[in-house]
Amino acid sequence: MPRQYKDYYAILGVSRDASEEEIKKAYKKLIKQWHPDLHPENKKEAEEKFKEIQEAYEVLSDPQKRAMYDRFGYVGEHDFSQQASSTTFEDIFRDFESFFGRDVFDIFFGERGSTQEAQKAARRRAGEDISITVEIDFSESLVGKQVPIEYERYEMCDHCHGEGIEPGSGYQTCPRCHGSGILREERRSVFGVFVSTRTCSMCGGSGRVIKEKCHVCGGTGRLKKRVRTVVNIPAGVTDGTKLKVEGGGNAGYGGGPYGDLYVIVHVKPSKKFRRQDDDIYAEITIDYLQAILGTTVRIDLPDGGSTMLRIPPGTQPGTMFRLKGEGAPSLRTGRRGDLYITVNVKIPDDISGKEAELLKQIARMRGVDVL
Ligand SMILES: [Zn+2]
Ligand SMILES: [Zn+2]
Repeated sequence: MPRQYKDYYAILGVSRDASEEEIKKAYKKLIKQWHPDLHPENKKEAEEKFKEIQEAYEVLSDPQKRAMYDRFGYVGEHDFSQQASSTTFEDIFRDFESFFGRDVFDIFFGERGSTQEAQKAARRRAGEDISITVEIDFSESLVGKQVPIEYERYEMCDHCHGEGIEPGSGYQTCPRCHGSGILREERRSVFGVFVSTRTCSMCGGSGRVIKEKCHVCGGTGRLKKRVRTVVNIPAGVTDGTKLKVEGGGNAGYGGGPYGDLYVIVHVKPSKKFRRQDDDIYAEITIDYLQAILGTTVRIDLPDGGSTMLRIPPGTQPGTMFRLKGEGAPSLRTGRRGDLYITVNVKIPDDISGKEAELLKQIARMRGVDVL
């Protein structure tokens, strides 16, 4: 029964002659991209993808496993499709036993897991990223703000330095796979007995497990802690801006590096101002007499201050004034956009009899027909 061939290079999107550095880089990028927490709508698919990426990286990041994979197309599993057709299933079985007997295995992996360092490195994995949301006012989004935040994350266990191993304790042969790193499954059907193999989940294929887990963290190497800190929201953020705080995520596994913290900024909309790119738009309403005769009005600025705006005589309703450099600062360049003020003109509907008389005089002067 042919086993499924997985193209680990394709999974990581690297070429077959990719360097260790390239593989690591591709893995780091993908593992962030496919973190199941980031795909709540299709978690199952993300989880599968996530596992696949990890599997590919486990093999390609280990020079010995990679060499074996390049040569045989698999690691630690026997490709039964290569068997001669005359072989009985029992033969396959026996062959299997010898194939995966310690001797053969050790040839492939050399000093397989013989040093503690190699074991530790195999268990080491980066922690997950964490996302939190903070809310700020529109005016704060223009000047920036130091926002206190509080969230839960896993931190490295100090007692075992994140390795999950009780200091002074070593390793023992994995009780599930008895040191082979491989689990064998046998399935009987009308066609005979099919045997499939997979990497032992208990020891991750290393054949060894920790003798004594850290008594403080229970072997995970991590402890849940409440974090209180201050995040610096830069001037110019818009609703939905995602800020990265490197190392602010969960502690890694087996002493691996911390994940990152993503702070998603929610900017409360303003009643007065509307931002478009780095320009800001607002409206003011003036009296019809001000529009005719001109005036100077005090207007609010988006970042909280105010300024005087001169309205020239004869200003038409809907006229737009531009206040250069009073818009929002660009998050990338810091350069400020402009503020645009549209002028509405209010026509009074409550004038007195005296006012009406005076206006009728003006109407006659201008030859305008009125009621
Ligand atoms: Zn095992
Ligand atoms: Zn610990």
